[in-house]
Amino acid sequence: MASEFILEVKNLKKYFQAGQPGWFSKGAKLVHAVDEIDLQLKHGEVIALVGESGCGKSTLALTLMGLEEATAGQILFDGQDITHLAEKEKKALRRKIQMVFQDPYESLNPTQTIQEIVMEPLVVHGIGANDEARKKQVKKALEDSGLKPAETYLTRFPHQLSGGQRQRVVIASALALEPQLLIADEPVSMLDVSIRAEIINLLAELQKTRNISVIFITHDLGTVGFFADRVAVMYLGRIVEIGSMQAVLKDTKHPYSQALLSVIPVPNPRLRKKRIILQGETPNPVNLPSGCRFHPRCPIAEEKCKQLDPHLFNLSAAHQAACLLLENYQ
Ligand code: SF4
Repeated sequence: MASEFILEVKNLKKYFQAGQPGWFSKGAKLVHAVDEIDLQLKHGEVIALVGESGCGKSTLALTLMGLEEATAGQILFDGQDITHLAEKEKKALRRKIQMVFQDPYESLNPTQTIQEIVMEPLVVHGIGANDEARKKQVKKALEDSGLKPAETYLTRFPHQLSGGQRQRVVIASALALEPQLLIADEPVSMLDVSIRAEIINLLAELQKTRNISVIFITHDLGTVGFFADRVAVMYLGRIVEIGSMQAVLKDTKHPYSQALLSVIPVPNPRLRKKRIILQGETPNPVNLPSGCRFHPRCPIAEEKCKQLDPHLFNLSAAHQAACLLLENYQ
């Protein structure tokens, strides 16, 4: 029986070794890139994964794709455990989970034509009876991605396209495989502001017509407000707040999420929030702060935040109201 969830992530950790153990140190230190992540995604649901660069969101995406090996925890795709698959099984899974990367300049092979680029995944996965059948699928994927008429793009090379058109080609080659889950890692951050909305509208339309589940990774919550069903805010490898887009926008609990939201440009001056500028840099994930990881930058930190993780102590009522959804802060 198919699972209610297309994706379930349970207590997922991805640590990297930071350098080699030295003469005087007991062992190599670890970068806690992804730490105790729990996440569930329903079929056809869109979740925005938001946080500053270096918070672990891209590592989480690569671990979900099987491009990084999980250190601990479990990943279920449509009920099937995909945490540690053999290469052959990973290849089969990639047909169902596709990724759109941030940089459309680097994700396309400059020596291939657009037709070759979009057709390649079909050939690799043995889809289509012959090249003629595959060409039809390529044209459909290009046209669905807004590159119309497809014939005018087939023989071109990536350098002959604009940034927006290249990202449409990347989307077309991901969609040609008809995936069930699309992970879009900052898909518009390298593009001109003028074409960002077009690409997000395209993803929103494709998600609706194909009922694909989407994980949309971004550092800018303002780009996905209308598109995502839920939002998960990440800080230093952990999800610190998660909820429906509406609930998080209206009633933001965590001080970090409040700071992220306060810098989104709002055209109506009456609806603008006071900007919260966080002090200091994101701490080094090798030497994590004691207690709450956010305490060195938190404008409402209390003394006990330095000693204990939030889920281990009872915050005062005022503190709770301003701060945490305890069940979501692990
Ligand atoms: Fe800030 Fe303390 Fe809440 Fe952490 S636990 S977010 S430091 S108030």
